[in-house]
This record gives sequence, C-alpha cells and structure tokens, in this order.
Amino acid sequence: MAGLDRLKESVKEAVEEQRGRLAEIARWLYENPELGSEEFKAAELLTRELEKHGFKVVRGLYDMPTAFYASYRGKGDGPRVAVIAEYDALPGVGHGCGHDLIAASAIGAGVATSKVAGELNGEVLVVGTPAEEGRGPSGGSKVIMGENGFWDDVDAAIMLHPSTSYSVGNRSLGIWNVSMEFRGQTSHAAASPHMGVNALNAATLAYMATHMLRQEARRDANLVIHGIISEGGQASNVIPDRAVVNFGVRSSDEEYLEEMVGKVARCGEGAAHAMGAEVEITKRKGYSGKKVNEPLVEVLWENYASLGAEMRPWKETIKGMPMASSDFGDVSRRIPAAGSYIKIAEPGTPGHSRQMADASVTVEGIEGMILGTKALAMTLVELLADPMKLERAKEYFVNH
Ligand SMILES: [Zn+2]
Ligand SMILES: [Zn+2]
Repeated sequence: MAGLDRLKESVKEAVEEQRGRLAEIARWLYENPELGSEEFKAAELLTRELEKHGFKVVRGLYDMPTAFYASYRGKGDGPRVAVIAEYDALPGVGHGCGHDLIAASAIGAGVATSKVAGELNGEVLVVGTPAEEGRGPSGGSKVIMGENGFWDDVDAAIMLHPSTSYSVGNRSLGIWNVSMEFRGQTSHAAASPHMGVNALNAATLAYMATHMLRQEARRDANLVIHGIISEGGQASNVIPDRAVVNFGVRSSDEEYLEEMVGKVARCGEGAAHAMGAEVEITKRKGYSGKKVNEPLVEVLWENYASLGAEMRPWKETIKGMPMASSDFGDVSRRIPAAGSYIKIAEPGTPGHSRQMADASVTVEGIEGMILGTKALAMTLVELLADPMKLERAKEYFVNH
C-alpha cells in the first residue's frame, strides 16, 4: 500500500518535529514527579498540550480526577484506536518506572497521527490512565475504566514502556493480593504466657505454610508469591494479639491463579486453627495477566523493526517468561491490545530505581522514546488506514 507508506513517513516526520517538545515534557515530569492518584500537574500539562493540538479533551473519568481522554476525529466515523499514557511516579525514586516517557510517547504518537487524520477514516484517542503502580483511589485506573465500560467503545489500544531493551508482545502476570489479619489475646510474655494467644505465631506459621506451597506449584504457570509480615506486635514482653501478613500471588494462568489464591488463604486458616487464633482473610483481585493479540503484536513489531529497533522475533517474545503485572493486562482482556518496551538504559539497570529515572532523560532515553513514539504513531495510522489489520486483530481477540 503506497498510500500507507506515505502516511507512515508523514507521522515519522511529525514525531521528529515534536522531538524537542516531547523531551521537554519528559524532563518536566521527571523533575516534578507525582504519586499515583495525585498526578494533577501532569494531567494538566498533558491535556493542555493535546488541546493545543486541537484534541477534544475530557478531564476526570469515573471519579478519577487525574484520568482523561483526548480525541481527534478524522474523516468518517470509522474505528477508534487508542494510545495509552501513564504518568504516576514512585515514592523515593521519582519516575523510576519511566512513566514520564510513557506520557511523552502517547502525546507524541497521538499528535503525529492527528496531523494526517484528514486522510484517515476513524478517530485517535490519547487515554490518560493514572496510578498504574496501584496507589490511592485511582489505583489500577485501567481496571476501573474497564468496569465502567470505557474500553467497550475502543477498537484497539497500544502503548510503550521503558526498559533495557526493545521488545514487542511480552506477556504479563495476573496478580491477586491476599491479606491475613490474625487476632489473639495479649498476655505477659513471661509471667502468664499460658493466658495468651500469639497472633504473630499464627502469622509466622501462615507465612511458612505459604512458602511450602511453592514446591507443588505448576512449573509452566509462572507462579510467584511474595509477602511481608506488616504487623507483628508492639513489645517483646507482650504476647501480640494482632498480626498482619500481606501476600502478592501472581501467575500467567488466570484460572490457576485463583486456585492458588485459595490455597494461600487455606494456609492462613490452617495456621489460625493450629494456634487457636482468629483470622480474617481478604482476597482482592489486582491486575489481569496480558492476553496476547498476535496480529496486533505483529503490526507493532514490524513498525519497530522498520525503525531499526533490535529485538527478538515477536513469536519468541510472546513465549518468554512474563515478569511483572500491569493494569494494561486488563485492557488486553477487553479489547485487542499490544504493548512494547523501549531501550533507555543498559541491561542490568534495575526497574523501579533512581538509575532508571535518570536514564529517562539521557540522550539514549529520549532517543528510545522518539523511536517508540514513531512506532506507535505508525501503528495507529496503519490500523485506521488498513481496516483489514484491525479486523484480523478483532477476530483473533474473539477466538482466543
Ligand atoms: Zn512500575
Ligand atoms: Zn511502569
């Protein structure tokens, strides 16, 4: 399709033209990090930028004041394709997850696509999704948006995330949070231990029992269990009457994950029973694991590859071990969605670190963001200009 190639060249140029401004946006966010659910300044900066480029902006979605979407309609009432922005930072390490670059890339890709919208049948959306790291009332905003039907009116969604290498099509893990609150009886730890019920002992037993589950875990399901004892008494001479254990349970298999959450809860119940304590167990679903959409992954991968990004073939990446969890997984369970990683730092740089935050504003960081922004814009254009591609993604979504 010669027409499509020309459109792709146009959006690449449009991204180049924004290079300085996108770097400025990233640096501003880097220098003014805001925690999840409090990204007021970031949301203001990003929505103003989109308005400046003629987008229609809706600020605040489903009682989440820092969520937004911005739309730009081309000719005709064709499909709606979305690029997703995140802009929450982390306590202590600022933009240690590089969401400053996710925000800049979404603005860049959306604006670039809008420049050729006159030739496209459909609409491009930039969707602002706060609190990806889960903090505050807007925590996991993409899940909340899904529950309210937001994604039902969107045909496909794409995004990028900073990393130490380029890749497209990575899976992610589903996660549940299990909290156990043990109740016992205080008593003098030396003079009258026989009158106490030690809640910390019950919590410790639950912690150990959960560890022991691991041996029998299914090896193909990428099970991860991580936990802390967040409360365990206040003085060593008082038998604790209260202890709290918090677990994260993750897996790439959603059904198996629920089964294992049940078993972790059983460890808590068993431990309470053994010690004669009471326990209240709260099981809360966090994020879903990503549902890979092969046709969409292929389109996005091809666009990255055409820009010279060094990557494994996507067919290998989708089989790779999923490492973390994101509420983008929940988007992928509702509509065709594909994510990508850009290289902003050398391999070995830890995620959620000061080093990763600093990398986001280096020459390499900005270069990676610009490359990724072009790939996102080219993909948005491709989905609108070549309806068969979007059809294939939708068919695949329904059948898998
Ligand atoms: Zn993160
Ligand atoms: Zn992140």
